[in-house]
Amino acid sequence: MNSSERTPLINRRPSIPVNQSMEEEESDSEENKANVSEKILSGDYESLDYDVCENDLYQLEERKKSVKEIMIIEMLRWLVMFFVGLLTGLVASLIDFCVIQSTDLKFSIIKKYVDKCVDNKCMEVPLLVWVGINGGLVIVASILTACFEPVAAGSGIPQIKCYLNGVKVPHVVRLKTIVVKVIGVIFSVAGGLIIGKEGPMIHSGAVIAAGISQGRSDTFRKFDLRIFEFFRSDTEKRDFVAGGAAAGVSAAFGAPVGGVLFSLEEGASFWNQALAWRIFFASMVSTFTLNVIQSYIKGIPWDLSYPGLFNFGSFDTTSYSAFEIPIFILMGVLGGLFGALFNQLNYLLTKFRRRYINKSRDRVLEAMIVAIITATVGYISLYFNNSCSPMVQDTKDNTVQVYCNDGQYSSTATILFQSPEDSVKSLFHESKGMYSPSTLIVYCLCVFILACWTYGLYVPSGLFIPGLLVGAAWGRFVGLCLNYIFPDVGWVDFGKYSLIGAAAQLGGIVRMTISLTVIIMEATGNITFGLPIMIVLIVAKWVGDIFNEGIYDMHIHIQGVPILGWEPSSVLTNLSAKEVMSHPVSVFNMRESVGRVMEVLKTETHNGFPVVEDYIPNPLDSSINEEMSFGTYRGLILRSQLIVLLKQRVFGDNIDQFYNLSTKDFRDAYPKFTPIRQIHVSQYERDNCEINLEPYMNPAAYCVTDNALFPRIFKLFRALGLRHLVVVDKHHQVVGMVTRKDLARYKVTRKFWKARIDELLMSTR
Ligand code: ATP
Ligand code: MG
Repeated sequence: MNSSERTPLINRRPSIPVNQSMEEEESDSEENKANVSEKILSGDYESLDYDVCENDLYQLEERKKSVKEIMIIEMLRWLVMFFVGLLTGLVASLIDFCVIQSTDLKFSIIKKYVDKCVDNKCMEVPLLVWVGINGGLVIVASILTACFEPVAAGSGIPQIKCYLNGVKVPHVVRLKTIVVKVIGVIFSVAGGLIIGKEGPMIHSGAVIAAGISQGRSDTFRKFDLRIFEFFRSDTEKRDFVAGGAAAGVSAAFGAPVGGVLFSLEEGASFWNQALAWRIFFASMVSTFTLNVIQSYIKGIPWDLSYPGLFNFGSFDTTSYSAFEIPIFILMGVLGGLFGALFNQLNYLLTKFRRRYINKSRDRVLEAMIVAIITATVGYISLYFNNSCSPMVQDTKDNTVQVYCNDGQYSSTATILFQSPEDSVKSLFHESKGMYSPSTLIVYCLCVFILACWTYGLYVPSGLFIPGLLVGAAWGRFVGLCLNYIFPDVGWVDFGKYSLIGAAAQLGGIVRMTISLTVIIMEATGNITFGLPIMIVLIVAKWVGDIFNEGIYDMHIHIQGVPILGWEPSSVLTNLSAKEVMSHPVSVFNMRESVGRVMEVLKTETHNGFPVVEDYIPNPLDSSINEEMSFGTYRGLILRSQLIVLLKQRVFGDNIDQFYNLSTKDFRDAYPKFTPIRQIHVSQYERDNCEINLEPYMNPAAYCVTDNALFPRIFKLFRALGLRHLVVVDKHHQVVGMVTRKDLARYKVTRKFWKARIDELLMSTR
C-alpha cells in the first residue's frame, strides 16, 4: 500500500502475520506483548456471508419454484419465529423459577443461622454458611463455563452484536453453549454474584433461533428436519438470530418493542418491514409465554401482569416537572462519568485477565474468590453498617430484623437478603425512611466495585441489573440530598430519582440509547418518563464517549474482532480502494486444473477467490508490481463451494461432462465444511482433470473500481453484509480484493480535535 502522501494522518504499521510479529516481540517485556496483542485484528474470526450467491444453480432453483412453494417458505419463516418466541419464553421461565427457588432456599438457611446468633457471639457461623453456599454454587457455574464452553461466559451481547454485524464468533450459537449458559446463569445468580440473568437471555434467544431455524443439530446428527432446508444459509440464519435476540430482550424485560429496537440498534445492517414484523412476532410470543407461565407460578393463572423476568414496578403516581430536567441532565452527566470509570476499570481488569488469568483452573479460582468476597462484603457491611430503623406499617413485608432490636429492621440486610432484581425494585419503590444515606453510599460503592470485577469472570452473567443497581442507589441518594435541601416540596420523589440514576448509570456503561429508552419505558409500564430517560441516556452516552467506548464495544475490540461500526470514520474519506485492497490477488480461471485448486486452497487461508478469464499464473515471475492485474473479472467463488465441488468430484478430463449438482448439495454441507486437508484427490486427477467453475461461481458478486473511496466500500460491507469485494480497474481486470478485515483494521482514536489513525496488524490463523 502506498498512500503516505494522501493520508498524512495515518500512522502506518506494516501488515505482518501475528506469529511473526510476536516472535519479534519475544525479547520485549510482558507489557509490550499485551499492547501488541491489542493492536491485532484476530484471524480467528471469519466473516459470515450475507450476500446471496446467485449462481446458475440458484437461478434454476428460483425459476422452478412455484408460488405455492414460495408461500410455504414464507409461512415456515413465521412458524420458526413462533417457536423461537415460545422456546425463549419457556427457557426464561425455567431460569426464573430455578433462580427464585434456590435464592429463597439459600436466604432462609442463612437467616436461620443469623437469627440463632442474636447475641452476636457467633457471627462467623452464618458468614461461613453464606460463603460456603455462594462459593459452591459459583464454582459449578464457572467450571461449566471455563472448562466446557468459554463462549458462554458473560452476557453474550457482544458476541451476538458481532454475529448480527457479520462476524462468526466460534461456537456462539451452539447447543452446548445454551446448555452451559442456562445452567451457568442459574448457579451464578443463585451464588450471589452481582449479576443479572437478563443479558444472558438475549444470547439464549439467539442460540434458540439459530438452532430451530436449521432444523438439525451437530450434537444430535440423526435429527434433521428437511422442511427447514431453505434456511441453511448465513443470510436466513442471521434473520432468525435477530428475532431470537429480540425475543430474549422481550422475555427479560417484558419489552417486545424494546427487543425489536435492540436488534435494530445492534445489527441495523439489514432491515425490511417483513423481517421487522416477524421479529416483533417472536418478541410478542416470548413475552406472552413467559407471562402465562409466571401467572401459573404466582398462583393467579392467566393474570397477565408478569410480562418479563424483570419489571421496574409501577410508577403510576409519579410525575415530573419541566424545572427538574436540568437535574436529570446533571444526573446524565454523572451517569456518563461513572459509566466511563466503570468501563475503564473493567478494561484494565480485562487486560490483566488476558495476561495472567488464562487457564481454566485460574478462571474458576477467580470466580470463587469473587463469590467469597461478594458474600463476605455483604455480610461485613451488614454487621458494621447495621442501620436499624423502627418498623412502620408499610415497610413490614420486605424487612429483615437480623441484629436489630425487636420492632426494628436492618435496612442493609433488607437490600442484601434478596436477589439483585428485588434490590433494584426496593430502591425504586420503598418508602422514604427505608434507606439511610450511609447505607446507600456504602452499598453503591460495594456494588460498583464488585460488579466491575464480576463482569468478565468466566460465568454467564448480565450487566443490566448491576448497572441499574448502582445507579438506583446513587439516584436515591440524589433524591435524599434534594429532600434535605428542599424539605417541604412535594416533587422530590426518591423512586423517580432512583429510576433516573439507574438509567443514567446503565446508559453510561452500555451506551445504548434508542432501545434502552424503550426497554426502560416498557419495564416501568408507563410512558411518563420516556422523555427524561431519553435525555439522560443521550447525555450519559455523550459524556461517556469522551472518555472511552461502551463496555460491549470495548470487549469486542480487546478480542480483535473485525467489527464494522455504524458509519465509516469521517477522517478516512480520502482513502481509496487502491490503498485498502490486498494485492496481489489469488484468482481462479473459469476452467481451473484440480491440482491448482488443491494447491491454492492448501497454501492460502482466503475464503473467497475472484473467477477470471485470461489469467496465466507464472510461478517463475516473482516481480509483483502495483500495476499488475489478474485477468478479466467474471465472478466470485467461495472456498466452501470449492470444497463441495472437490468432495463431490465435480471434475473430469472431459470438461463438458454433466454433473447433477444442485443448491441442496451446498446447503447440506452448511455450515461446517470439510477442511481441505481431509479431501483426497489422486495425482492423476490433479494433473489431468479440470473443474468448470462457471455454473457455481457467483456471477453477480459485487465489485468496485479501484478509485472507489473508503466510505462507499464501507457502506457496501455494512449495509449488504458482504464478505468479499473484488476490485477491478477500468478495463474490468481484477487488481485487488477487499474483506471486512481490510476496513476494520483502521483504528481511529479521537482526542478532541485531533484524530490518530493506526493500521492494526492482521493475525493469520
Ligand atoms: P474471512 O476470514 O472473513 O472468512 P477471508 O479469509 O477470505 O474471509 P480475510 O481473512 O478477511 O479473508 O482476509 C485476510 C486478508 O487477505 C485481507 O487483507 C484480504 O484482503 C486478503 N484476501 C482475501 N482474499 C484474498 C484473495 N483471494 N487474494 C488475495 N488476498 C485476499
Ligand atoms: Mg480469513
